Amino acid sequence: MPGFELFGESEKSQVQDVLDSGVLMRYGFDGMRNNHWKALELEEALTKRMNTKYAQLVSSGTAALTVALASAGIGAGDEVIMPTFTFVASFESILAIGAIPILVDVDETLTLNPAAVENAITDKTKVVMPVHMCGSMADLKALKAICDKYNLLLLEDACQAIGGSFEGKPLGSYGDLGCFSFDYVKTITCGEGGAIITNNEEYKTNADHYSDHGHDHVGDNRGAERHPFLGYNFRISELHAAVGCAQIERLDDFLTIQKKNYTVLRNALSPLSNITFRKVPNGGVENYSFLSFFLPTQEIAKKAHTALGDAGVDACFYWFDNNWHYYKEWEHLTSKKSLGKLPQEVVDQLPDYAKSDFSKSDAWIGRTVSCLIKLSWTEEQVAERAAKMKEVLAKFS
Ligand SMILES: *Cc1c(COP(=O)(O)O)cnc(C)c1O
Repeated sequence: MPGFELFGESEKSQVQDVLDSGVLMRYGFDGMRNNHWKALELEEALTKRMNTKYAQLVSSGTAALTVALASAGIGAGDEVIMPTFTFVASFESILAIGAIPILVDVDETLTLNPAAVENAITDKTKVVMPVHMCGSMADLKALKAICDKYNLLLLEDACQAIGGSFEGKPLGSYGDLGCFSFDYVKTITCGEGGAIITNNEEYKTNADHYSDHGHDHVGDNRGAERHPFLGYNFRISELHAAVGCAQIERLDDFLTIQKKNYTVLRNALSPLSNITFRKVPNGGVENYSFLSFFLPTQEIAKKAHTALGDAGVDACFYWFDNNWHYYKEWEHLTSKKSLGKLPQEVVDQLPDYAKSDFSKSDAWIGRTVSCLIKLSWTEEQVAERAAKMKEVLAKFS
């Protein structure tokens, strides 16, 4: 997955371009900047590649989720449905605006189970936030039907699946809003950065203002700009955007490499009767950043993961007891451990997750092993890896 593996001349010359102009900020300094607008350029490249009307760059994927929610008017006490298997950024972005993260089970897609989503809807629900984990996607068609039925927003977290698609649409563009992360370990990176894509002009305008202290960006005198509503600073810098300008040009090449490496590994494991692969919903095309598969039981999966590591197959993950990605280790959320007082809505409405039953998620995640697909592997390394994985996993029937 990590685009940093293949940094080259284009990244260097883009960054040098910004340093030569001397303007590291995305707004203002029109006279000084010699027509360098890297953030704007990257936003345009994103709208083209993702086939949406608008894109808004921000400082991180977490910021993108926060700004996306804020731009759609989500606030204190609103409930946002999110999966038990994701990254901590999901609930962080929801809590940041005083909204309530409602955890819901995942299924064999390793993403939101649509039936569980429908069960979790209350009169406070405003958003369904599927997270396209490990390169593949939620059943967006089913989720969209639910959102339409209950008049909810569909916000796609596509931070780990950029370049994948569903029913021919790039992931992130199917829902009302989509978010990407360009942090250091994502498929394409800015070092730090994130983006929101949407076809909704009002959300774009709100995201543009909100991510820059509420500035209305009218005219060419920053000091004179008005602030129609409260905002915050989630800006990306020109230096970061410049790296992204180089990387987005390479996205499709990266996807081709990922698909090639993924396919070699998958074909090697396919004959094993003890391995089944993560389900990709009908109409979905992965971005191939991970190969995820199920072993027969939780106990076997844990042992198989350890054995892969012992055999030198690195970068494989057993998510079930992972600190960052699975609800079981989110003790800080469960115990509401915050530095200061939480908004009263959160105190009152956050479910007691210590008592929740997510055994349906456990049944899938407990059996899952995911292996990262790297860009820098040579053909020999992939072949060797495939053979080793097959040999190790064959012992765990
Ligand atoms: C990386 C990631 C984020 C957050 O991105 P940052 O840029 O690191 O803040 C959000 N969601 C998912 C699924 C991610 O993998």
